[in-house]
Amino acid sequence: MKKLHGVKAPHWKNTAELAAVRIPVPPEVVVPMSMHIGAPAKPVVKAGDPVKVGQLIAEAGGFVSAPIHSGVSGKVKKIDDVLLSNGQRGTAVIIETDGEQSVYEGVAPVPVSSKEELIEAVKASGLVGLGGAGFPASVKLMVKDGVKIDYLLVNGAECEPYITSDTRTMLDDAEAVIGGAELVQKYLNIPQTVFGIEDNKKECIRKLEELSRDKSGMSVQALPAMYPQGGEKVLIYNVTGREVPEGKLPADAGCIVMNCTSLAALYKYIRTGMPLVEKCITVDGSAVVNPQNVIAPIGTPIKYLFEFCGGFQKDPEKILYGGPMMGIAVPDTEVPVLKGTNAVLAFDHADAILPEPTACIRCGNCVSHCPMRLAPLEIERAYTLKKPEFLEREKVGLCMECGCCAFGCPAKRPLVHVMKLSKLMLRDYQNAKKLEEEKKAAKAQKAAAENGKEEKKE
Ligand code: SF4
Ligand code: SF4
Repeated sequence: MKKLHGVKAPHWKNTAELAAVRIPVPPEVVVPMSMHIGAPAKPVVKAGDPVKVGQLIAEAGGFVSAPIHSGVSGKVKKIDDVLLSNGQRGTAVIIETDGEQSVYEGVAPVPVSSKEELIEAVKASGLVGLGGAGFPASVKLMVKDGVKIDYLLVNGAECEPYITSDTRTMLDDAEAVIGGAELVQKYLNIPQTVFGIEDNKKECIRKLEELSRDKSGMSVQALPAMYPQGGEKVLIYNVTGREVPEGKLPADAGCIVMNCTSLAALYKYIRTGMPLVEKCITVDGSAVVNPQNVIAPIGTPIKYLFEFCGGFQKDPEKILYGGPMMGIAVPDTEVPVLKGTNAVLAFDHADAILPEPTACIRCGNCVSHCPMRLAPLEIERAYTLKKPEFLEREKVGLCMECGCCAFGCPAKRPLVHVMKLSKLMLRDYQNAKKLEEEKKAAKAQKAAAENGKEEKKE
């Protein structure tokens, strides 16, 4: 089977050997209501309310949304508009902690005996995709009637440089990863579970092989260490040989993909009733004194993570949520840990500086590196010429913003930036086209109705 393209990005997994350490509870947490794809959650607490660990503080704001629970005990200070990691403003529940970490009385094991109960439990747990995308996990499990799922693919690739939080989950919480996979496999009646892990994580492969050996329909597949091996569509293709059609979901290719840390969190919720309230985060980058993996309550401002890791040895010029390939730069260190935060990286000037782009030399590297078989140079041309119809033809919608094209570009073209802007241009064009078609259809309907009236009169 032909493997999808990608790049041999350096790994720099400096923290892979370091077990995660829990940081002291911060004096205050800032919990944004928008930590997932879909509608923001709606607060169910108000200023002055006492809260405990595991207590619901916001309910799901719609079908595609997720509830939010407190990761600390203390008192709600206020509900306020705050600067979010994406540079926009949004509502957050701000909690003053008491350092006690008292657990909410309602936290108790969740009995599950059917697919419906499992989905309800996942919904109530507030679990969202922990690989970074933030898609509510319950929605992923709501497979339409008649759609047959052949594979549960457990994403343990962790192909982004620096990040090792999934590696630590697979090493330190392997039983929970297996337990979560068993629950999904059983209640969704999926014949096969495959753990897809890059072959540079030998200890993770060994551990999961050992624990899954006697489990029916479970296997581990070592995948070449290549970026973006953990991209959903790449993983599906490289493990099963199936392609997800443009605009479709993995379920349309008979697959459900879940991150290994998501499955561990699901298992723990069913066994203990403790929802998703804390995260393991890799803290690394050239500006950090002691890179390591830490565990912190969701909502912890990231300055406390850096402080715990010895602070900065050089002024950080760029701070990223996530890895250097797909991470996003954040405005300051006041922004909090979100459900999907798996790494915070701080880079000094030398590592943060962006090279000056030069003219495209049409070498084709971007095409040969693109895992989705796109032609980034043609997309950039269509974008520059403002030709959204060409963007449609070039299938820019398939771009997963992985950065392989920019990584391999000798001219240092800002291709990912252009891909993002091109997708927005295409979306506006398609929306305008749809609106135009609707107007035309309404006009034709009106004309037909008027003709009918005229004919009746005659
Ligand atoms: S890799 Fe860069 S220089 Fe080469 S064709 Fe693509 S955009 Fe042009
Ligand atoms: S075009 Fe998109 S999918 Fe292809 S390499 Fe570039 S960022 Fe990745």
